Amino acid sequence: MITARKVKLTITENREDGYNFIHNELREQNQALNMAMNHLYFNYVAREKIKLADETHKIKLAEDQGYLDQKYTELKEVKTDKKKQNIRKSIQAAKKRLETLRKAENKQVAEKFKEIIAASEKTNLRDFITDNFNLTSDTKDRLTQKVSADFKNDIVDVLRGERTLRRYKKGNPLYIRGRNLTFYIKDEEYYIKWMKSIVFKCVLGVKKQNSLELQKTLDKVIEGKYKVCDSSIEFKQNSLILNLTLNIPVCNSFDKVEGRVVGVDLGMKIPAYVTLNDSDYIRRAIGSIDDFLKVRTQMQSRRRNLQRALKSTKGGKGREKKLKALNQFEVKEKNFAKTYNNFISSNIVKFASDNKAKQINMEFLSLSETQNKSVLRNWSYYQLQQMIEYKANRVGIKVKYVDPYHTSQICSKCGHYEEGQREKQEVFICKNPECKNFNIEVNADYNASRNIAKSNKYITKKEESEYYKIN
Ligand SMILES: [Zn+2]
Repeated sequence: MITARKVKLTITENREDGYNFIHNELREQNQALNMAMNHLYFNYVAREKIKLADETHKIKLAEDQGYLDQKYTELKEVKTDKKKQNIRKSIQAAKKRLETLRKAENKQVAEKFKEIIAASEKTNLRDFITDNFNLTSDTKDRLTQKVSADFKNDIVDVLRGERTLRRYKKGNPLYIRGRNLTFYIKDEEYYIKWMKSIVFKCVLGVKKQNSLELQKTLDKVIEGKYKVCDSSIEFKQNSLILNLTLNIPVCNSFDKVEGRVVGVDLGMKIPAYVTLNDSDYIRRAIGSIDDFLKVRTQMQSRRRNLQRALKSTKGGKGREKKLKALNQFEVKEKNFAKTYNNFISSNIVKFASDNKAKQINMEFLSLSETQNKSVLRNWSYYQLQQMIEYKANRVGIKVKYVDPYHTSQICSKCGHYEEGQREKQEVFICKNPECKNFNIEVNADYNASRNIAKSNKYITKKEESEYYKIN
């Protein structure tokens, strides 16, 4: 699987030359990208114009030819000289029109475009860049790939007028070749040898956990276990950042049970409730909302205090200090939501691999729906999805999204649906007399989770959902 890591870099030897080279290459590349995009666009539009002009021309010719044929037939059929004369007049006029049309402007326009395009296409995109820019051949290769892919992706929307032609701005990264990056360790520091004999030193950061994780990743790269793919470098807030793209092998080492699926129900009370599609008993409630609530209450009161303190401070150094404290606190709050998602996603994937499941099912939720699924500020369902997908894919488990329609109102035992089966938030009661669970109180989160595990109504967008058709 393909994954990305950010690595802060610095150049220690021949700093100035190194940074100058990167700055120049970056500037040239971005100019080349814009020019290449225009080149592709012009060629495309011109080609389309020729096609259109050709077609319109052909249609007009055919129409007039048809008209002429019709008049000749009429000429044979009419008896009186007067009528014959009239028809002959029409034929004369039509012939003249046809003649003009054959030399028509459309045709000339088309010919002219053909000439221009033939001249411009003589130089393909790469040669065109070579002629106009002084770039290394690797940058040329990468930018040609990039602009061609972007063009393909954008062109339909551009022609529809839904977006403008893409412009590559100053902050765009420099696209580099993975094969040009050689990682090694010297005196317990990580280095990367690049082209033009530039050597980067990796700055591993101050946060211990992040730094350890990055070290582990770099070790795997050096051992050859992770393959380095084409990546990019960029300047962010005066730091040089490598956006390292890696191909990480998926470990399929543990056996999986064919057809076994984990269902995940997210909720207010219990952050995540997990079950299996093929077992009534195996289940787990992940996290306790009480713990999170405690932290949240603490955070809220801290935030209030900070805001109050800020209000009562008129200005100057004191205010600045308090504003900074509030900002730092907000970062902390965001990090808490991330920690929460990390915890839940790890446990969901652990449950799945412990139980040898092949797949994890989650509900496909719209943004407004996800707001009812957590008590946390700044909580992001999207982030949770990304984390689960990443961790699951790493151990060869697929993640799929199912239609959330009726997942909490249907009996997971017999599939019976009836209004009022979920009288209380926590409890589900099946009203089907034939069901084994008839009139028995079942944990509502468990019931929903099992419905999600058993569902095969996979959807990829909101419009496919029964749920959204109703609500
Ligand atoms: Zn039932």
